[in-house]
Amino acid sequence: NTSKLPKVGTTIFTTMSRLATEQNALNLSQGFPDFAPDPLLIKLAVEAMKGDFNQYAPMQGILSLREVISEKIESLHGTYYHPETEITVTAGATQAIYTAISTFIRPNDEVIVIKPAYDCYEPAIEVNGGVPVFVQLKGKEYKMDWEGFREQINSRTKMIIINTPHNPTGKIFSREDMLTLQEILKDTAIILLSDEVYEHIIFDGQIHQSASSFADLASRSFICASFGKTFHITGWKMGYCVAPVALMKEFQKVHQFNVFCANHPLQQALTTYLKTPEHYLELNDFYQSKRDLFNKGLEGSKFTSTPAQGTYFQLLDYSKITHEPDTVYAKRLAIDHKIASIPVSGFNLDQMDHQQLRFCFAKTDDTLKRAIDILLKV
Ligand code: PMP
Ligand code: GLN
Repeated sequence: NTSKLPKVGTTIFTTMSRLATEQNALNLSQGFPDFAPDPLLIKLAVEAMKGDFNQYAPMQGILSLREVISEKIESLHGTYYHPETEITVTAGATQAIYTAISTFIRPNDEVIVIKPAYDCYEPAIEVNGGVPVFVQLKGKEYKMDWEGFREQINSRTKMIIINTPHNPTGKIFSREDMLTLQEILKDTAIILLSDEVYEHIIFDGQIHQSASSFADLASRSFICASFGKTFHITGWKMGYCVAPVALMKEFQKVHQFNVFCANHPLQQALTTYLKTPEHYLELNDFYQSKRDLFNKGLEGSKFTSTPAQGTYFQLLDYSKITHEPDTVYAKRLAIDHKIASIPVSGFNLDQMDHQQLRFCFAKTDDTLKRAIDILLKV
């Protein structure tokens, strides 16, 4: 067998989005907005393309964008990342994650991943010969099992991947969680890969606990971010990664041969756009009202839920309707009721002992109302 990833097939996001199209179903599966980004951002992109920005960008990204990223992180989390040496603009968070993993993971290195887990971590570990080691969030409430986590750490543990706010559960790590993680990693050489793509989508007045704001975590962390999530431009595939200079130096060695550089005109547009903090600070309220619209609308339905603490995903429990496996029920909902969602078992769960589906609420209020109408009738 020549495949390096024999278990890997089509992702659940592709599968469910395709099914939604085939079935002409409302698509609340794959996570992307169904509304346009800010016209100002489009205008800035067009201007950059009409200007002199259509050739390669510098390998690590244009300096002006790295400077605004640095200012943003310092103002939000109090930690300074040097724009010259500690920040790389990437082709989405996916590339940042892949590059960070392939920069450090050698055959038989262990990487601890928290399940349910976003789908791009495990294949990136395996294609580099690493061994994913899983710690499962506990029960329907997806509680973090710090004791179980501690037990998985050994001399082969090279890296740990966390994701807060968390896709698909919508859970966030509290300050206490981050302090516990920091304490567990103290005196180890373990690298932390912190996937913070939903950093600006967090609700009910909670504060995003970035790995960058905990000195001992920051000193060992790659932090990955996505402009796609923050500015409603998932198709632009733009993001960035920050890390202390020694880690970033190695990352850039690999980055320059992965992609060399990310899209240049879009970096120009994002530089100007990112200079206005409202463009990302308003996102919490924007998505909180969508979360609330969706959940309120479903009161009186057969679905039950605990409101997401962050991300633009809401898990709905369907155990009052059926105990079918989530993959079976998600297909049936798409075919019979014309609404597509993501089965939670698609996030690296071999078995699900509860019944939950993930719905994306990054949708117009009109789409959400149509979704509610459908789900109330189920
Ligand atoms: N991490 C998580 C948890 C995600 O949900 C996503 C996007 N769906 C990514 C990473 C990838 O981000 P990007 O689209 O910027 O590559
Ligand atoms: N991150 C998106 C989600 O969780 C999917 C992105 C993709 O299709 N790879 O739905």
